[in-house]
Amino acid sequence: MFDARYSIRTHIAGAITADSIGETVTVAGWVAKRRDHGGLIFIDLRDRSGIVQCTFDPDASGAAFVTAERVRPEWVVKLTGVVRRRPEGTENPNMPTGEVEIEIAEAEVLNASETPPFEIEPGIDTDEVTRMRYRYLDIRRPEVLYALSLRDRVVQRFRRALESYGFMEVETPILGKSTPEGARDFIVPSRMSPGAFYALPQSPQLFKQLFMVAGVERYYQIARCFRDEDLRADRQPEFTQVDIEMSFVTEDDVLAMMEAVMHEVMKEAAVDLPVPLRRLTYAEAMDRYGSDRPDTRLGMELQDLSRVFADSGFKVFAGALASGGVIKGINAKGAGDWSRGRIDALNQVALDAGAKGLAWVAFTSEDEVRSPIAKFFSDDEMAALREVLGVEPGDLVLMVADARAVAEEVLGVIRLKMADELGIERSGFDVLWVVDFPMFKYDADEERYAANHHPFTMPREEDIERLESEPLSLGSYSYDLIMNGYEIGGGTLRIHNADLQLRVLERIGLTEEEARRQFGFLLEALSFGAPPHGGIALGLDRLVMLLAGASSIRDVIAFPKTSSGADPLTGAPDAVSARQLREVHLKTD
Ligand code: ASP
Repeated sequence: MFDARYSIRTHIAGAITADSIGETVTVAGWVAKRRDHGGLIFIDLRDRSGIVQCTFDPDASGAAFVTAERVRPEWVVKLTGVVRRRPEGTENPNMPTGEVEIEIAEAEVLNASETPPFEIEPGIDTDEVTRMRYRYLDIRRPEVLYALSLRDRVVQRFRRALESYGFMEVETPILGKSTPEGARDFIVPSRMSPGAFYALPQSPQLFKQLFMVAGVERYYQIARCFRDEDLRADRQPEFTQVDIEMSFVTEDDVLAMMEAVMHEVMKEAAVDLPVPLRRLTYAEAMDRYGSDRPDTRLGMELQDLSRVFADSGFKVFAGALASGGVIKGINAKGAGDWSRGRIDALNQVALDAGAKGLAWVAFTSEDEVRSPIAKFFSDDEMAALREVLGVEPGDLVLMVADARAVAEEVLGVIRLKMADELGIERSGFDVLWVVDFPMFKYDADEERYAANHHPFTMPREEDIERLESEPLSLGSYSYDLIMNGYEIGGGTLRIHNADLQLRVLERIGLTEEEARRQFGFLLEALSFGAPPHGGIALGLDRLVMLLAGASSIRDVIAFPKTSSGADPLTGAPDAVSARQLREVHLKTD
């Protein structure tokens, strides 16, 4: 029979409690700590399950004592002895094994260890690159092991929940053809087809749609995805999605399925997620929070001040309104005493985010304000401003006058900045949907329309007639799952009609010939009786990061890469031999 202890040990360290007192046990693991107390030696022995204290007495332990004198941190040892209660006053109530210790009679060294480059302990401040270089030692630390085990438990919850709703897991190729999710592809040269390249999947998007044409109906996959982008704390070149697709569904069906699954998954963080989740439309999210992934815990909602300043004598405000723009503002409570220097720094943030400037009024007391522009405001305007933003003495009002999209986006950035600066509490989990994204956006750099999610998204039925004439006015069946201000997932209903799919590809700038060359296989598949379908993909790394309370997805990935895409452990990426290059018909310069 399979036994987790195998034959080297009889017990795992973390499970030795008062129930074992009097038993002879054998444990095996790493020397976490060794203390010499005037003749008596203590070793804290660590294995994956935890730590148990072992004692060596010079008289009682015999040869084992000599071994204990010699071992060093991270040596691997096998120890046998009798479990006993710790002497009164020496118990450690913070450890599951804190009531007991093992009095060792036999000790065997299974392997020695170099002195580790950092301590195998929680909360070390060793730099991350060193930890990544010795990631196998880093993972020995309880907090890293915890993150990986949380990740495992979350994945198991997903699998169990999805299987219970009739989903089947099917794998899709890693060596594939470029699919446009909006990022750069990693490419792999083909040896057998000189000059041709595979692309690593940015997501299994088109394959999962082909599964729907194939009649799979409910597909999921814990899928590795690859995007060659500049990295940030919440981005890695390879990451994992919980990828899902369903046939014969409406948007409500996909959302309800996802809510039920998330309700299960959140139990891993001891959260009883209330479902159904709130839904904000994209327009509402931008209007109230200046972001399509709002953290609604922060308050500080954007208010439209256009009516307050409808007849403003302040040129900047009047000009913005005259050219069809808006004036919007937030109230940063308690920042009314900020110095000019601090506010100027904030202005720079607004400029960097695309504003022409940040207007501000600091309410120093009941009837006194500090502001370079308040002199342009009438008493009525001031009163209305206070009213709309709920101003109290000590508040700082920040305003942007610009085109609606600019004003909202800039204030969205300022709002997050102020929440950080003011230390606004972010406890608990804020989970909601943002739905109804516009189908297209205009890419000014490339001077063309681009799909907001991806070009396989179904436009709103009632809008399709304006696809060619007014693309920016088209809505879409699309939804993002937002947690604590992060997009943890997103999806759409898909186009299942080949003609409409071709029209959308043409709208984003492909000629019919290009569309057929790149996506001929999809267009063809759609023409063979594709059912209505839709789906979603969740970013597993981000989700686990949030559940673990970590600040970077690197903390929840076993072997992450640095911000320059390197792996300090293996040395990847690395040069390859001239022969390898020749074989794939490549020359480097
Ligand atoms: N494939 C999409 C993505 O990776 C998600 C989806 O639409 O299901 O963003």
